[in-house]
Amino acid sequence: MSDSYDVIVIGAGPAGYVAAIRCAQLGLSAACIDDWCDTAGNPVPGGTCLNAGCIPSKALLESSELYARMQHGANAHGLHVESMSLDLAAMMARKDHIVRELGSGIVTLFKSNGIDWLHGRGQLLPNRQVRITRADGTQQLVSGQYVILASGSVPVELSAAPVQGERIVDSRGALAWSAVPSRVGVIGAGVIGLELGSVWSRLGSAVTLLEAQESFLAMADRTIAAAALKLYRAQGLDIRTGARVLSTQDEEGAAIRVAYQDAAGDHELAVDRLIVAVGRRPGSDGLATAEAGLLLGEGGFVHVGEHCATNLPGVFAVGDLVRGPMLAHKGSAEGVMVAERIAGQHSSVNYDAIPSVIYTHPEIAWVGKTEAALRQSGIEFRSGTFPFAASGRARAMQASDGLVKVLSDARTDRVLGVHILGAQASELIGQAVLAMEFGASSEDIARSVFAHPTLSEALHEAALAGSGHAIHLAVPRQR
Ligand code: FAD
Ligand code: AMP
Repeated sequence: MSDSYDVIVIGAGPAGYVAAIRCAQLGLSAACIDDWCDTAGNPVPGGTCLNAGCIPSKALLESSELYARMQHGANAHGLHVESMSLDLAAMMARKDHIVRELGSGIVTLFKSNGIDWLHGRGQLLPNRQVRITRADGTQQLVSGQYVILASGSVPVELSAAPVQGERIVDSRGALAWSAVPSRVGVIGAGVIGLELGSVWSRLGSAVTLLEAQESFLAMADRTIAAAALKLYRAQGLDIRTGARVLSTQDEEGAAIRVAYQDAAGDHELAVDRLIVAVGRRPGSDGLATAEAGLLLGEGGFVHVGEHCATNLPGVFAVGDLVRGPMLAHKGSAEGVMVAERIAGQHSSVNYDAIPSVIYTHPEIAWVGKTEAALRQSGIEFRSGTFPFAASGRARAMQASDGLVKVLSDARTDRVLGVHILGAQASELIGQAVLAMEFGASSEDIARSVFAHPTLSEALHEAALAGSGHAIHLAVPRQR
């Protein structure tokens, strides 16, 4: 195995392993260093996304949604489930199996692309040298013409609720409980808190989410966030906004007591398990020696420019480690861009068209600007909305909750943002991403023909609604 490479990547999450594969496709020799190990201590690629994030959470969301639907949704179809039981161990084993299979898929990709997957903790030294420290303490030095830093992120810790054992957990712990707790508290009603809260609520826990901010899902469009909050609460999620957690008291064998404050005063919540989901921070601790001179910005993010170049020549940084949304696909897009720029191409990432998704039921997905952001920038816009209640397919699917909203420039009609609350919003948003990538106008969407009956017709109708022409909306007309 060589000690010098064209490109060394630190981190084998969706930003790092994708960057390494793209480098190899472009004829560059590449090594990918990663320190993630499974519970048995074996190295596994895929980072947070595969091992403790996107994939295991989606596996449990799918299983728990199926369980909830069989219990509460089947009757409407004339299906009466006489008896049903939950085998949580089997549900967890299915999730673990999916993670293992996908992990071995990445290993195969590394092999077939000739990428050296090096196990251990990487640290950037001066002149693009990297020191790898293995679990047994042994070290190896490797060097690259280029280095791509992709060490991802770690959960933010809350001094008011220190993570401990199976009782007070971060997102990783909440994906692996061995029994369904009676009462679950979640600190933080952001994307991760809502997804994990949904899983345990569907499996039978009474779930309370404490969110410090007054406004629910502040980053989402207000219409969507308000409609989602109503639906989540109706599902039984007890979401308390403006509720800042101050301290926790955990007495083994008794409840965990969570003290929090809201506008009305001080309160206490008693739960059996607590999930701390107050965000993530970049994993830049110890990533480079002081002599290497890597510049970090606010919050420990590695400082990069538009094309992910750091302050050091030949050193790039991508994914959760740098500014922008902490999303797997954003990191992968940056990984591909950097690999292509190293190979002399002129790639870039369109940060204006990166979709965001919350995989609750119904799902939330959006791309582009919200109404509030457009107002703030003084851009005049048209808004067209269409409810899934008026979609034949949504009705047939028992999925009539939610809506699609298309925002377009009042002058040019160019699509500026699309916001969806509804079943399969995560899939539907891809159409909006394509429209925005190709600079479509809302008329372009309105003049396209969508299959009937599909959920996509709601996007079509929302585009028509922007100019008052939605077919399936009853709007009083003047004669
Ligand atoms: P990571 O995936 O964090 O990978 C970094 C890797 O580098 C890790 O393996 C780490 O161990 C390793 N590493 C760190 N430091 C070193 C070092 N010094 N030396 C060697 N190795 C090192 N995003 C989505 O887009 N969709 C989702 O549905 C979604 N769901 C999520 C659900 C949960 C519960 C969580 C926690 C996150 C979720 N995310 C989701 C976010 C997503 O996981 C991250 O945005 C993504 O993993 C970031 O990719 P990355 O490659 O930058 O870093
Ligand atoms: P996200 O960044 O989407 O994972 O969301 C994390 C959420 O946690 C944010 O909405 C924060 O407002 C919230 N949060 C952070 N600290 C606290 C706290 N002490 N109590 C309650 N919520 C918090």
